Amino acid sequence: MKILVCDPIDEQGLARLRGAGHLVDAKLGLAPEALLKEVAPYDCIVVRSSTKITKAVVDAAKALRVVVRGGVGMDNIDAVACEARGIKVLNTPEAATISVAELAIGLMFACARRIGRAHELMRQGKWEKKALTGNEVTGRTLGLIGVGRIGSEVAIRARALGMRVIGFDPYLKSAPPALELTNLDAVLSGSDYLSVHVPFTPETKHMIGAAAFEKMRKGVMLIDCARGGIVDEPALAEALKSGKVAMAAMDVFEEEPLKPDHPLLKLDNVILTPHIGASTHEGQGRVGMAVAEKLIQMFGPANA
Ligand code: NAD
Repeated sequence: MKILVCDPIDEQGLARLRGAGHLVDAKLGLAPEALLKEVAPYDCIVVRSSTKITKAVVDAAKALRVVVRGGVGMDNIDAVACEARGIKVLNTPEAATISVAELAIGLMFACARRIGRAHELMRQGKWEKKALTGNEVTGRTLGLIGVGRIGSEVAIRARALGMRVIGFDPYLKSAPPALELTNLDAVLSGSDYLSVHVPFTPETKHMIGAAAFEKMRKGVMLIDCARGGIVDEPALAEALKSGKVAMAAMDVFEEEPLKPDHPLLKLDNVILTPHIGASTHEGQGRVGMAVAEKLIQMFGPANA
C-alpha cells in the first residue's frame, strides 16, 4: 500500500509500516495546492489535526482507500466526501487515554494546592504562604461527567488517592470499577472536584453553564480536559469571580488558540494549558503505533 503521511507521526509507527512492506512517504506540511498535486497515487493518507482533507483532496486522490487521523477529532476531514467514495476514515482515540487522565489528575492537584498561582507569586518575588493554603484531595468527592476511556482511568487514579468517585454517563450500561454512577444533578451538587470527560456533541454543548454552576457546591474545583465548548467560558468566568467555583483548570477552549482578551486570562483562580492533554512522548508514540497497527490490521502486511 502507498501511504502519504502529511503531519508528524512518531517514527516507530512509520518504521512498523515500512517493516510490514508498505511504501511510506512523509511529506509534512504540504500547502493545500501542493497536496492536491501529490495525492493521486496514494491508497492511504495519514494526518493529525493540521492537514485538511477537503472534498477537493478526495476528488484528486484517485486511488484513496483510507484516511487515518492520528488522534481524536476529525473536523479536518470531509467525512461526507470520503463516505461518498467509499473511503474509510479511522482515528486513534485510545492512544491518548492515559496521557489525558494523568493531566486531569495533575490539574486537580494544581487546583487543590494552587501550584500555578504559587509559581506566579514566587516569580514576582512574593513569599505568600498564607494566601496559598490549599486542600487535600484524600477523602474528597470527585465527580466525573462522562465515564468512557479517559473518565474510567481518572476514576482508578482518584480512588488510589483515597477519593470517593461518582460519575454521570447515561450511555453506560454498567458502572466501571472504582466509581458510583448517578444522575447529573447529584454529580454537580455532590462533588468537591468535577472533571469533564464527555465528547463535544449538540447535547454536551455548554452543558457546564450558568444553570450547572448554580447546582454546584460553593468552592468546587473544575477540571476540563475534554473539548472546547462543553464548558460555557463566560459563565465559568462569572462563577470564578463570584467564588462559586474556587479554582478551575482548562486544557480546551471554544476557540483555540485563546484570544489575548479572553476573560479567563484575567483571573488568578484559573489554570490554563494549551490543549496538551495528549502531548506526551508516550502518547505520541502510541498514536504512531496505533496508526500502523490499524492499517496493518485492515490491509495486512504488504509483504505477507
Ligand atoms: P469516550 O468516548 O471513551 O468517553 C466519553 C464518554 O462520554 C462515553 O462513555 C459517553 O457515553 C459519555 N457521554 C456522551 N454524551 C454524554 C452526555 N451527554 N452526558 C454524560 N456522558 C456522556 O471518550 P474519551 O476517549 O474518554 O474522551 C473523552 C473526552 O476527552 C472527549 O471530549 C475527547 O475529545 C477528549 N480528549 C481530549 C484530549 C486533550 O488533548 N485534552 C485528548 C484526547 C481526548
